[in-house]
Amino acid sequence: MTVTNPITSEVDFEAEGKHAGYLRLPHSVNRSAYGFIPIPVISIRNGDGPKVVLMAGNHGDEYEGQIVLTALAKRLRADDVRGQVIVLPAANTPAVIAGSRTSPVDGGNLNRCFPGDAAGAPTSVIAHYLEHVVFDRIDYLLDLHSGGTSLVYLPTALIRFDDDEGANRRRHELLDALALPHALAFDASDGPYASAAAARRGGIAITAELGGGAMVDRALVSLVEQGLDRYLRHVGVCPALDTVPAAHRVRLFRVDDESQYVFARAAGVFEPAVDLGDTVRAGQLAARIHRPEQPWLPAEPVHFDRDGFVVCRRALARTEIGDCLFQLAGD
Ligand SMILES: [Zn+2]
Repeated sequence: MTVTNPITSEVDFEAEGKHAGYLRLPHSVNRSAYGFIPIPVISIRNGDGPKVVLMAGNHGDEYEGQIVLTALAKRLRADDVRGQVIVLPAANTPAVIAGSRTSPVDGGNLNRCFPGDAAGAPTSVIAHYLEHVVFDRIDYLLDLHSGGTSLVYLPTALIRFDDDEGANRRRHELLDALALPHALAFDASDGPYASAAAARRGGIAITAELGGGAMVDRALVSLVEQGLDRYLRHVGVCPALDTVPAAHRVRLFRVDDESQYVFARAAGVFEPAVDLGDTVRAGQLAARIHRPEQPWLPAEPVHFDRDGFVVCRRALARTEIGDCLFQLAGD
């Protein structure tokens, strides 16, 4: 299929062997009239087998995935691969360089831009290119995120299930191979996400949430590194990779509605009343929002609307009305 998109690739995705270069997104600005935004990509292709795309830096302030994929891109040899592995360690490169969730070039949030627009702003052009060119004939996508600057997650895999029993069984096996301690299951649905884009192209997608708070957690880096190797071996694209057995079983939760998100209804300083990993009840105190600028006002209590398991919390203390404070998962 011929796709019209202004991005050109220095890497020929059809070529056998290991190739690295930039996706060139033309970007004409004052400091660079004929310049391009350089998005690094590595393609490792060796004969027949599944096509796997590994992404990090979809959001620029989520770091463990960027570290693990940068290392993998150097480590993996063509001999290790049966099929094709495409690695994008800095998918929204301007956001990665800025250490920012969104792109400083156009304010775009790549993971809200799919299926993208070839004639749109740069972030939307990247989304369009990924969905229509990089994800073409894709079998698997692993998109590595974290809570970014504002949130902290327990290490969690997000996956969408549908009514295809065979595919659902494969999804469970993938979660076990990756072995992040927690997994959140969604009902299949469309959306502006890379995972939905890969699904539209026929691939099975996992989005990983790994820590956050704009930090790098050393234990998480090795958890993901080991999980990634098991994943690559399990899907058959790196059948001979040496792997470390998973240290634990995956606990699977459901995410089914908005009531699992707790939002601030007052501005101030967020003091959590529960910790990540706690099991909570509907009506239980979730947090207090303090108002040091009006200390005579009472702190605003925030309560959980339903039972659940605390899988994500806000990392930043200063809070505005509408900020997400917690995400719950349901058994
Ligand atoms: Zn993210």
